Amino acid sequence: MKAPSFAYAKPRALEEALALLSRAEAKALAGGQSLIPSLNMRLSAPELLVDITGLEALKGIRLEQDVVRIGALATHAEIERSEAVAKHVPLLAEAVQHVAHPAIRNRGTIGGSLALADPAAEYPACALALDATLVVAGTEGRRQVKATEFFKGLFETALRPGELIVAVEFPAQLKDQRTAFAELARRHGDYAIVGLAAFAANGTKRFAFFGAADRAVLARHAAQAKDLEAAKQALAKDLQPPADLYHSPATKLHLARVLLERTWNRLSTPR
Ligand SMILES: Cc1cc2nc3c(=O)[nH]c(=O)nc-3n(C[C@H](O)[C@H](O)[C@H](O)COP(=O)(O)OP(=O)(O)OC[C@H]3O[C@@H](n4cnc5c(N)ncnc54)[C@H](O)[C@@H]3O)c2cc1C
Repeated sequence: MKAPSFAYAKPRALEEALALLSRAEAKALAGGQSLIPSLNMRLSAPELLVDITGLEALKGIRLEQDVVRIGALATHAEIERSEAVAKHVPLLAEAVQHVAHPAIRNRGTIGGSLALADPAAEYPACALALDATLVVAGTEGRRQVKATEFFKGLFETALRPGELIVAVEFPAQLKDQRTAFAELARRHGDYAIVGLAAFAANGTKRFAFFGAADRAVLARHAAQAKDLEAAKQALAKDLQPPADLYHSPATKLHLARVLLERTWNRLSTPR
C-alpha cells in the first residue's frame, strides 16, 4: 500500500522544527525506517511530516566529561563505528550489532528507536541498564528525563506532544563496572524474542529485559538475589511475558532465565 498524502517540511533549526511539531497532526521524520512502513500500512496518517535530519543540534557522538552524549540523529551505523561508544559504552557497542540489518542501520537513528519504544528493541533496555538520561526539547524549553521514567508502556513514552529527543547521555563506563548483552532472535538482525542488557558494579546489578513485557523492564527482584539460582527463581516476580505468535509466556520466561545465566556468568568474569 501507499502512504496517505501528507505535507513535508525540512527545517534547518531546532526552534523551527519544534514550532512546526507543535501543530496537531504533525510528526517528526528521522530515519523513516519505522515511520514510513507504518504510513504505508496506513497505521497512522499525519498531515505534516517534519523531516528533522537537517538539524545539527541533534547530530554527533562525543565524550563530555563522564558521559557519552549521543545525538538523537546518530544512526545505528554511526554508533557501530564510534570509538567513543566502543571504549566508554561497550554495552551499546555490543547491542547495536543486533539492531536490524545493514541497510536499516544506515538510516535508522537512536532517537527514532527510543521515541518509538518498541518493546523488543535493544536501545531502551541499554538505556535502562546504564541509567541513561534523555535530553528532550519542546517549545517550552528543554528537560532531562531518566530512562527509568521515559518508557511508559507499549510504544508509549514520557514525550509530550510536539517534543523531540535531542540526545541521550550514557555514563562512561568505569574500570570496576561490567556489562553484558545477550539476545535470542529467529535470525540475526530480527527483533528479539527475548533480550537482556546487564550491568554490574560494586554489588549493584541491573538486568534490563526486552521482548518480555509491553516495554523494556528492569528485573528488580532478580537484581537483588544473592546467587544465580535465586535470581532465576526471582525472575518470575519481575516478568510475566505475554505470548507472541510463536512463544508461550512459559517459553519466554524460560528463555529469559537462559539469558540471565549467560550474562550473570559474564558479569562475574574480569575483563
Ligand atoms: C526490517 C526491520 C527490522 C528492524 N529490526 C530492528 C531491531 O532488530 N531492533 C530495533 O531496535 N529496531 C529495529 N528496526 C527499527 C529501526 O531500528 C528503526 O530505525 C527505529 O526503530 C526508528 O528509527 P528511525 O530513525 O528510522 O525513526 P522513524 O521511523 O523516522 O521514526 C519513528 C518514530 O519516532 C519518532 N521520532 C523519530 N526521531 C525522533 C526524535 N528525535 N524525537 C522524538 N520523536 C522522534 C517519529 O515521529 C516516529 O513516531 C527494524 C526496522 C525494520 C524496517
